[in-house]
Amino acid sequence: METKYVYFFGNGKADGKAELKDILGGKGANLAEIANMGIPVPPGFTITSEACDFYFSNNKNYPDELKCQVDENLAKIEKIMGARFGDEENPLLLSVRSGARVSMPGMMDTILNIGLNEDTVRGLAKQIKNERFAYDSYRRFIQMYGKTAMGMPGEMFEKLLEDKKRQKGLTLDMEIPTEDLKDLIQRMTTTIKETGMECSPDPGTQLWKAISAVFESWDTPRAIAYRAANDIPHTWGTAVNVQAMVFGNMGDRSGTGVVFSRDPSTGERKLFGEFMRNAQGEDLVAGFRIPQPISDLADFMPQCYRELSNISQRLERHFKDLQDIEFTIQDGKLWILQTRTGKRSAQAAVKVAIDMVREKLISGKEALGYITPRDIEQLLHPTLDSTMEKKVIATGLPASPGVVSGKIIFDPQELVQVTQKHGDDFILVRNETSADDFPGISAAAGLLTVRGGTTSHAAVVTRGMGKTCIVGATAINIDTVREEFIAGNKVFRKGDYITLDGNEGEVIAGKLPIIAFKPSRDLEELLVWTDLAKRLKVMVNADNPQDARLARELGAEGLGLCRTEHMFFQPNRIDYFRTIIISEDTADKEKALKKLLLIQRAEFEQIFEQMEGLPVIIRLLDPPLHEFLPLPYAEDELGTLSKRLGIPFGRLREKVGELHESNPMLGHRGCRLGITSPEIYQMQVRAIMGAACELSNRGFRVFPEIMLPLIAHVEELKFLRDIVANTCQQVKEEMGAEGLSYKIGVMIELPRAALIADELAKFADFFSFGTNDLTQATLGISRDDHGTFMPFYLDKGILRANPFATLDETGVGELIKMAVERGRKTKPDLEIGICGEHGGDPKSIEFFDKVGLDYVSCSVYRVPVARLAAARVAITQKA
Ligand code: PEP
Ligand code: MG
Repeated sequence: METKYVYFFGNGKADGKAELKDILGGKGANLAEIANMGIPVPPGFTITSEACDFYFSNNKNYPDELKCQVDENLAKIEKIMGARFGDEENPLLLSVRSGARVSMPGMMDTILNIGLNEDTVRGLAKQIKNERFAYDSYRRFIQMYGKTAMGMPGEMFEKLLEDKKRQKGLTLDMEIPTEDLKDLIQRMTTTIKETGMECSPDPGTQLWKAISAVFESWDTPRAIAYRAANDIPHTWGTAVNVQAMVFGNMGDRSGTGVVFSRDPSTGERKLFGEFMRNAQGEDLVAGFRIPQPISDLADFMPQCYRELSNISQRLERHFKDLQDIEFTIQDGKLWILQTRTGKRSAQAAVKVAIDMVREKLISGKEALGYITPRDIEQLLHPTLDSTMEKKVIATGLPASPGVVSGKIIFDPQELVQVTQKHGDDFILVRNETSADDFPGISAAAGLLTVRGGTTSHAAVVTRGMGKTCIVGATAINIDTVREEFIAGNKVFRKGDYITLDGNEGEVIAGKLPIIAFKPSRDLEELLVWTDLAKRLKVMVNADNPQDARLARELGAEGLGLCRTEHMFFQPNRIDYFRTIIISEDTADKEKALKKLLLIQRAEFEQIFEQMEGLPVIIRLLDPPLHEFLPLPYAEDELGTLSKRLGIPFGRLREKVGELHESNPMLGHRGCRLGITSPEIYQMQVRAIMGAACELSNRGFRVFPEIMLPLIAHVEELKFLRDIVANTCQQVKEEMGAEGLSYKIGVMIELPRAALIADELAKFADFFSFGTNDLTQATLGISRDDHGTFMPFYLDKGILRANPFATLDETGVGELIKMAVERGRKTKPDLEIGICGEHGGDPKSIEFFDKVGLDYVSCSVYRVPVARLAAARVAITQKA
């Protein structure tokens, strides 16, 4: 049986349906689905992505049966539209558009008005009694076809167009008279001919070349970059949608626009969007003309507005999600060109999800699929401190929310380069953006454009990326040659700081202080459902009571890592610790140990109090000593320290020299310190258990867990476990809290520990993977010094992600899997978690769930992100 490569839609029926999205692409599947619902879509057909796959795997040839299937379906369109493709009297015109499985806005190609040539353009002019319109359509066709199907530089056509307008003293394309359009077309075709090519007059050739061009646009650098940034597999390919043209530029009773079934910035439930009279879709996207808000359509064509509102609601109920709908009105008749799931800001994602639950459209658990961990990350973005004075230099449309400060830069390519060397706080300032600017937008901290509406390219792309963006800031005057802009009377140069408030649409001079977020009620309500769905517990890495409290408010279910040494780093404490490791005077050392004991104990008490009823895992001293010491050649610092500690300068320098290590990460750190200086660990255990017993005696429920870092040998664990257990016992007896239970566990941070996990489990009550050190040790890459080559590795695709941010599943992940299996073989109910940075990374969380960890522990602000990620993975696994 021959393969079906072509699926028809139109006139209330379709061959395809939403479920065929994988082969029809998002756009094609939705067109089929809505045609079946009786929504007025211009008739057309979709060529499947399987044909695209065939095309690339067969040396850019089409499958044999494709031609015949296209012809059959073209005939169906002709019948419905009452016009014929290539007919000189009454020509049918076609559009050819891409449509991948997931939307890649503006990344692939589109060609409109296919079927026009010197003869059909005359026929069209006569048929619709509008010569200017016909020639304008032909001019647009040559431009698009020349650029996209023939690979000519688009600027060449733009220049001819601009020259013509300048010569006639005109500003808008639509003002060019018919005769000048004809002349322009002549110039464009001549220019093409001068390159030795020809814009084919044969409609059939035009159609097939356009189809190839769309297939090929799957493989352009910008599309590849977009897929890489959005984790879209390169193997999917795109479908192609061929559709009868309808015209929004046929006069004043025509227009084109984009609406959202709810406001994609705020989530508010109202028809949102804009339209442009007497225009085609490309005019809207390009952002040269300012569109009108959709509410104006209600005055201008009330019938169309009502129909559009109804359709928008029907589509939303049908697809159970916010819809982004493109429409065209041709001479008073409304056509829906496409509908898709609307990209939205993080705020809108939360509001839409919550509202849809309240409207009983979806369940609470389903709502978790409507927000992504990235949305939550964004919501945790800071906002502007409203008490600060600010100088607003321009106002535009708030296209994508958030607040960001950064240095002005005008050239997207330069931006990509500078961010590799000079950090990522650059704001791209452009008149308008196009798809070619995507890599620059990706690298920018924020985007500001002078032109464009809320559905312009810049707005759509940044909203999808969660990047702050303001569009249509018309008060800004860019001089690209001098690399500056003028706003008001003031000049802002490349490198000057500005701040964008994407919530308000305000462009502000300078760099402003920004304050941390506060979770909204809607977000809190939504996150409650994560606890019903997820299997993994989410704990927090915190070393002070304030963070512990905030984490609990954000839903942390315990404290997974308290790095005790962070308590020593404060200026008034660090000298005690230095005395302990440097001083040769036993009395001084003991005094310093006592001081630290009191400090730590008081702080542990507060932390236990904040985490009442939940486990608190405290790690004993871990970091390399150099983190506490001045450099042996830092004479000034050594001089002042010598005075403060009362140790002679020469002796201090000698001692610091002795402690200096050339490879401190592999040196005298972690449990090795505990073994050589047991009095430090004893002091810490006394502080922990003293605090726990005190609170327990006062009626608090405390669950202390003591964790030993950097264990590699079972003997290390046995040695330290004895010391820790004996100290715990002593403190409990001293404080009369014998009933208080506690745990002693190990961090798995070295490959050897993972290998002997079965042995370690005999002497450990729990494991916690320190994936920062485990990654460092497994990959042999320093966690502190990879900045010089990691960008290169990522750029060249040697690594897909930074392994210190997203777990290296095949390497480090394998060790984790093995250690879990071996550990649980010895002790089936061994508690196992992870407390490295990966604990807050959504992709890594999927892995941790899969290998059966009990919890992930991450930094405070990532707690909600991890909750959502853990819930989403549990839901998909069940499904
Ligand atoms: C780790 O190594 O993953 C860890 C949590 O410990 P630290 O980052 O403090 O070394
Ligand atoms: Mg570590």
